[in-house]
Amino acid sequence: MKWKDGAQCVVCLTFDLDAEISWRNILRRNNITRDNPVVLSQGTYGPKVGVPRILKLLKKHKIRAGFFIPGEVADLYPNTISSIHKAGHEIGHHGYSHKNPANCSRSEENLEMEKGIEALRRITGLKPQGYRAPAADLSENTLDLLSKFDLVYDTSMMGDDIPFKIQTNTGDIIELPIRWMLDDWPFFGFNYFPALEYQSGINSHRKVYEIWADEFEAVYEEGLYFMLAMHPQIIGVPSRAKMLGNLIKFMKSKENVWFATPIEIAKFWTEQEE
Ligand SMILES: [Zn+2]
Repeated sequence: MKWKDGAQCVVCLTFDLDAEISWRNILRRNNITRDNPVVLSQGTYGPKVGVPRILKLLKKHKIRAGFFIPGEVADLYPNTISSIHKAGHEIGHHGYSHKNPANCSRSEENLEMEKGIEALRRITGLKPQGYRAPAADLSENTLDLLSKFDLVYDTSMMGDDIPFKIQTNTGDIIELPIRWMLDDWPFFGFNYFPALEYQSGINSHRKVYEIWADEFEAVYEEGLYFMLAMHPQIIGVPSRAKMLGNLIKFMKSKENVWFATPIEIAKFWTEQEE
Protein backbone atom coordinates (compact mmCIF):
# COMPACT_ATOMS: atom_id res chain seq x y z
CA MET A 1 0.00 0.00 0.00
CA LYS A 2 1.04 3.61 -0.47
CA TRP A 3 1.19 6.11 2.32
CA LYS A 4 1.13 9.90 2.25
CA ASP A 5 2.87 11.38 -0.80
CA GLY A 6 3.70 7.85 -1.99
CA ALA A 7 5.77 6.96 1.10
CA GLN A 8 6.91 3.35 1.31
CA CYS A 9 5.95 2.98 4.98
CA VAL A 10 4.93 5.02 8.00
CA VAL A 11 6.73 5.26 11.34
CA CYS A 12 5.03 6.54 14.48
CA LEU A 13 6.86 7.03 17.77
CA THR A 14 4.67 7.19 20.87
CA PHE A 15 5.37 7.62 24.57
CA ASP A 16 3.02 6.87 27.47
CA LEU A 17 3.81 9.24 30.32
CA ASP A 18 2.45 7.30 33.30
CA ALA A 19 4.79 8.88 35.89
CA GLU A 20 4.02 7.72 39.45
CA ILE A 21 0.36 7.01 38.80
CA SER A 22 0.64 3.52 37.31
CA TRP A 23 3.04 2.49 40.12
CA ARG A 24 0.54 3.71 42.71
CA ASN A 25 -2.10 1.57 41.01
CA ILE A 26 0.26 -1.44 41.04
CA LEU A 27 0.76 -1.01 44.80
CA ARG A 28 -2.98 -0.76 45.38
CA ARG A 29 -3.82 -3.84 43.33
CA ASN A 30 -1.28 -5.74 45.43
CA ASN A 31 -3.11 -4.50 48.56
CA ILE A 32 -0.26 -2.20 49.60
CA THR A 33 -1.75 1.00 50.97
CA ARG A 34 1.58 2.76 51.53
CA ASP A 35 3.02 4.94 48.75
CA ASN A 36 6.48 3.37 48.76
CA PRO A 37 8.79 6.24 47.81
CA VAL A 38 11.30 4.08 45.92
CA VAL A 39 8.63 2.37 43.84
CA LEU A 40 6.98 5.69 42.94
CA SER A 41 10.31 7.37 42.17
CA GLN A 42 10.73 5.03 39.18
CA GLY A 43 7.74 6.87 37.73
CA THR A 44 9.10 10.31 38.69
CA TYR A 45 12.06 9.61 36.41
CA GLY A 46 9.70 9.84 33.39
CA PRO A 47 8.68 13.51 33.54
CA LYS A 48 11.83 14.63 35.37
CA VAL A 49 14.58 13.03 33.25
CA GLY A 50 13.09 10.84 30.51
CA VAL A 51 10.94 13.48 28.83
CA PRO A 52 13.67 16.17 28.52
CA ARG A 53 16.08 13.58 27.06
CA ILE A 54 13.45 12.32 24.60
CA LEU A 55 12.44 15.84 23.55
CA LYS A 56 16.09 16.62 22.83
CA LEU A 57 16.42 13.46 20.75
CA LEU A 58 13.24 14.14 18.77
CA LYS A 59 14.30 17.73 18.15
CA LYS A 60 17.70 16.58 16.88
CA HIS A 61 16.02 14.24 14.39
CA LYS A 62 13.19 16.68 13.56
CA ILE A 63 10.51 14.11 14.41
CA ARG A 64 7.11 14.87 15.92
CA ALA A 65 5.76 12.10 18.14
CA GLY A 66 2.63 11.25 20.13
CA PHE A 67 2.56 11.38 23.94
CA PHE A 68 -0.32 9.68 25.79
CA ILE A 69 -0.76 11.31 29.18
CA PRO A 70 -3.15 10.56 32.05
CA GLY A 71 -4.99 13.72 33.17
CA GLU A 72 -3.69 13.30 36.71
CA VAL A 73 -0.09 13.36 35.42
CA ALA A 74 -0.94 16.52 33.47
CA ASP A 75 -2.25 18.10 36.70
CA LEU A 76 0.94 17.08 38.56
CA TYR A 77 3.41 18.12 35.84
CA PRO A 78 1.83 20.99 33.86
CA ASN A 79 5.20 22.45 32.83
CA THR A 80 6.39 19.12 31.41
CA ILE A 81 3.16 18.67 29.46
CA SER A 82 3.43 22.24 28.21
CA SER A 83 7.02 21.63 27.04
CA ILE A 84 5.89 18.55 25.08
CA HIS A 85 3.04 20.51 23.50
CA LYS A 86 5.23 23.54 22.67
CA ALA A 87 7.75 21.25 20.94
CA GLY A 88 4.98 20.37 18.45
CA HIS A 89 4.16 16.84 19.61
CA GLU A 90 0.67 15.45 19.76
CA ILE A 91 -0.82 14.83 23.20
CA GLY A 92 -3.38 12.03 23.46
CA HIS A 93 -5.76 10.78 26.15
CA HIS A 94 -4.55 8.07 28.53
CA GLY A 95 -7.34 8.11 31.13
CA TYR A 96 -7.39 10.43 34.14
CA SER A 97 -5.95 8.30 36.93
CA HIS A 98 -4.67 5.44 34.72
CA LYS A 99 -7.48 3.18 35.97
CA ASN A 100 -7.98 0.01 33.97
CA PRO A 101 -11.19 0.74 31.98
CA ALA A 102 -12.22 -2.92 32.34
CA ASN A 103 -12.56 -2.36 36.11
CA CYS A 104 -14.75 0.75 35.71
CA SER A 105 -18.52 1.04 35.48
CA ARG A 106 -19.76 2.98 32.43
CA SER A 107 -20.28 6.11 34.54
CA GLU A 108 -16.81 5.84 36.13
CA GLU A 109 -15.23 5.41 32.72
CA ASN A 110 -17.26 8.33 31.38
CA LEU A 111 -15.89 10.48 34.22
CA GLU A 112 -12.30 9.32 33.54
CA MET A 113 -12.74 10.34 29.88
CA GLU A 114 -14.21 13.71 30.75
CA LYS A 115 -11.62 14.56 33.43
CA GLY A 116 -8.77 13.39 31.18
CA ILE A 117 -9.92 15.61 28.31
CA GLU A 118 -10.33 18.64 30.57
CA ALA A 119 -6.94 18.23 32.28
CA LEU A 120 -5.12 18.15 28.92
CA ARG A 121 -7.21 20.99 27.52
CA ARG A 122 -6.37 23.21 30.53
CA ILE A 123 -2.69 23.02 29.54
CA THR A 124 -2.66 22.78 25.76
CA GLY A 125 -5.92 24.56 24.96
CA LEU A 126 -6.70 21.58 22.72
CA LYS A 127 -8.98 18.63 23.07
CA PRO A 128 -7.07 15.34 22.60
CA GLN A 129 -8.10 13.49 19.43
CA GLY A 130 -6.86 10.03 20.25
CA TYR A 131 -6.78 7.56 23.11
CA ARG A 132 -4.56 4.78 24.39
CA ALA A 133 -6.12 2.61 27.10
CA PRO A 134 -4.39 2.69 30.48
CA ALA A 135 -3.26 -0.77 31.61
CA ALA A 136 -3.70 -2.06 28.03
CA ASP A 137 -7.32 -3.05 28.45
CA LEU A 138 -10.68 -1.88 27.13
CA SER A 139 -14.10 -2.28 28.69
CA GLU A 140 -17.19 -3.10 26.61
CA ASN A 141 -18.00 0.64 26.77
CA THR A 142 -14.62 2.17 25.85
CA LEU A 143 -15.04 2.42 22.08
CA ASP A 144 -18.58 3.79 22.38
CA LEU A 145 -17.38 6.42 24.85
CA LEU A 146 -14.49 7.45 22.58
CA SER A 147 -16.96 8.01 19.80
CA LYS A 148 -19.36 9.83 22.15
CA PHE A 149 -16.55 12.24 23.09
CA ASP A 150 -15.70 12.67 19.37
CA LEU A 151 -12.23 11.17 19.59
CA VAL A 152 -10.89 10.17 16.18
CA TYR A 153 -8.77 7.14 17.00
CA ASP A 154 -7.82 4.51 19.56
CA THR A 155 -4.35 2.97 19.75
CA SER A 156 -4.66 -0.01 22.11
CA MET A 157 -5.66 -3.02 20.01
CA MET A 158 -3.38 -5.55 18.34
CA GLY A 159 -5.43 -7.07 15.54
CA ASP A 160 -3.65 -5.97 12.35
CA ASP A 161 -0.46 -4.71 10.69
CA ILE A 162 -2.14 -1.53 9.50
CA PRO A 163 -4.85 0.80 10.84
CA PHE A 164 -8.46 -0.30 10.62
CA LYS A 165 -11.90 1.11 11.24
CA ILE A 166 -14.10 0.00 14.15
CA GLN A 167 -17.84 0.67 14.06
CA THR A 168 -19.42 1.56 17.39
CA ASN A 169 -23.04 2.33 18.33
CA THR A 170 -22.24 6.02 18.21
CA GLY A 171 -19.89 6.28 15.21
CA ASP A 172 -16.61 5.02 13.73
CA ILE A 173 -13.22 4.96 15.44
CA ILE A 174 -9.92 4.45 13.61
CA GLU A 175 -7.74 1.88 15.35
CA LEU A 176 -3.95 2.37 15.19
CA PRO A 177 -2.73 -1.05 16.31
CA ILE A 178 0.21 -1.70 18.61
CA ARG A 179 1.96 -4.94 19.60
CA TRP A 180 3.89 -6.07 22.68
CA MET A 181 6.98 -6.70 20.56
CA LEU A 182 7.13 -3.00 19.73
CA ASP A 183 6.65 -1.87 23.34
CA ASP A 184 9.59 -1.15 25.68
CA TRP A 185 7.86 -2.40 28.85
CA PRO A 186 7.96 -6.18 28.19
CA PHE A 187 11.72 -5.97 27.52
CA PHE A 188 12.85 -3.58 30.23
CA GLY A 189 10.08 -3.29 32.84
CA PHE A 190 11.39 -4.34 36.22
CA ASN A 191 10.34 -3.91 39.83
CA TYR A 192 11.84 -5.18 43.10
CA PHE A 193 8.75 -4.79 45.26
CA PRO A 194 6.03 -5.98 45.00
CA ALA A 195 7.82 -8.96 43.52
CA LEU A 196 4.70 -10.33 41.89
CA GLU A 197 4.87 -7.81 39.07
CA TYR A 198 7.63 -7.18 36.56
CA GLN A 199 10.55 -9.32 37.55
CA SER A 200 11.10 -10.83 34.15
CA GLY A 201 14.60 -9.39 33.92
CA ILE A 202 16.28 -6.47 32.22
CA ASN A 203 17.21 -6.95 28.59
CA SER A 204 20.17 -5.76 26.61
CA HIS A 205 19.16 -2.71 24.55
CA ARG A 206 21.22 -4.28 21.72
CA LYS A 207 18.86 -7.24 21.59
CA VAL A 208 15.87 -4.88 21.56
CA TYR A 209 17.49 -2.79 18.81
CA GLU A 210 17.86 -5.96 16.77
CA ILE A 211 14.21 -6.96 17.24
CA TRP A 212 12.89 -3.47 16.45
CA ALA A 213 15.23 -2.87 13.50
CA ASP A 214 14.40 -6.27 11.96
CA GLU A 215 10.69 -5.58 12.35
CA PHE A 216 11.10 -2.14 10.78
CA GLU A 217 12.96 -3.65 7.80
CA ALA A 218 10.20 -6.18 7.19
CA VAL A 219 7.52 -3.52 7.61
CA TYR A 220 9.40 -1.32 5.14
CA GLU A 221 9.64 -4.12 2.59
CA GLU A 222 5.93 -4.85 2.88
CA GLY A 223 4.97 -1.17 2.89
CA LEU A 224 3.19 -1.30 6.24
CA TYR A 225 3.04 0.70 9.45
CA PHE A 226 5.52 0.76 12.38
CA MET A 227 4.21 2.00 15.71
CA LEU A 228 6.52 2.02 18.73
CA ALA A 229 4.86 2.38 22.14
CA MET A 230 7.36 3.47 24.78
CA HIS A 231 7.49 4.96 28.28
CA PRO A 232 9.78 7.89 29.19
CA GLN A 233 10.66 6.22 32.52
CA ILE A 234 11.87 3.13 30.60
CA ILE A 235 13.25 4.27 27.24
CA GLY A 236 14.45 7.62 28.65
CA VAL A 237 17.55 6.22 30.40
CA PRO A 238 20.84 7.09 28.63
CA SER A 239 21.71 3.82 26.85
CA ARG A 240 18.14 3.11 25.75
CA ALA A 241 17.55 6.64 24.47
CA LYS A 242 20.81 6.28 22.56
CA MET A 243 19.54 2.99 21.11
CA LEU A 244 16.33 4.74 20.02
CA GLY A 245 18.47 7.43 18.37
CA ASN A 246 20.39 4.73 16.48
CA LEU A 247 17.12 3.12 15.39
CA ILE A 248 15.85 6.49 14.12
CA LYS A 249 19.10 6.92 12.14
CA PHE A 250 18.64 3.45 10.65
CA MET A 251 15.02 4.15 9.70
CA LYS A 252 16.05 7.49 8.18
CA SER A 253 18.72 5.76 6.10
CA LYS A 254 15.91 4.16 4.06
CA GLU A 255 14.24 6.20 1.36
CA ASN A 256 10.73 7.48 1.53
CA VAL A 257 9.77 6.80 5.14
CA TRP A 258 6.92 8.92 6.46
CA PHE A 259 7.42 9.87 10.16
CA ALA A 260 3.97 10.85 11.40
CA THR A 261 2.04 11.61 14.56
CA PRO A 262 -0.86 9.27 15.40
CA ILE A 263 -3.52 11.82 14.42
CA GLU A 264 -1.84 12.38 11.04
CA ILE A 265 -2.04 8.64 10.36
CA ALA A 266 -5.66 8.43 11.57
CA LYS A 267 -6.69 11.34 9.33
CA PHE A 268 -4.81 9.91 6.35
CA TRP A 269 -6.56 6.57 6.93
CA THR A 270 -9.99 8.21 7.13
CA GLU A 271 -9.39 10.02 3.82
CA GLN A 272 -8.18 6.77 2.22
CA GLU A 273 -11.37 5.00 3.21
CA GLU A 274 -13.70 7.71 1.89
ZN1 LIG B 1 0.07 3.80 30.72
